[in-house]
Amino acid sequence: MAGNTTRPRVGVLALQGDVREHERVLQDLGADVVRVRRPEELSQVAGLVIPGGESTVIDKLSRMFGLQQPIRDAIRDEMPVLGTCAGLIMLADSLVDAIVGQESFGGLDVVVRRNAFGRQVESFEAELDVPALGASPVRAAFIRGPVIESVGAEATTLATLDDGRVVAVEQGALMGVSFHPEITGETRFHRRFLDRVAAPARVGASHG
Ligand code: GLN
Repeated sequence: MAGNTTRPRVGVLALQGDVREHERVLQDLGADVVRVRRPEELSQVAGLVIPGGESTVIDKLSRMFGLQQPIRDAIRDEMPVLGTCAGLIMLADSLVDAIVGQESFGGLDVVVRRNAFGRQVESFEAELDVPALGASPVRAAFIRGPVIESVGAEATTLATLDDGRVVAVEQGALMGVSFHPEITGETRFHRRFLDRVAAPARVGASHG
């Protein structure tokens, strides 16, 4: 689909979670943002952000609203997707400590453990080195966040905590982070996502 506008139209999955914060960051970066609750809305966007919130609820609602398969198809068609926190859980191929029957969209060749930080440190902030985003560190807010327990051959680590635990990965057009860049004024993940939307790395992909 040839873009005839300089403003990329992207979606925020708006079933549950901190939709508004992502919307604001994306709008500030110049994007035209659509709240995605139905397949028709998904088909209008060139990229999707899956917010933080509660992955069990996002999973249930996405199935109820008929979005699970369309999102899986979009991921397979290499639509750029950024998932933060619960959104990372939704992008993982494999989950640890999921509830019974919980499903993800998949796409990232990783194993993600939900609620991976102990009770005392359920929420904390940390400065992360993310070389792919440049020299200045990322201020990251973790809120009952997951960790990436193992990174498969297809995925690339973007950031680790000081203890080595992986908290950000990417794979093709997909990016997943354990924390909430949208609440600490960190815009570089969203910018990287929008860059992907503007210049897809697809080779020979055609829209049918
Ligand atoms: N613990 C939540 C879950 O499992 C994620 C928390 C968040 O997105 N801030 O979905």
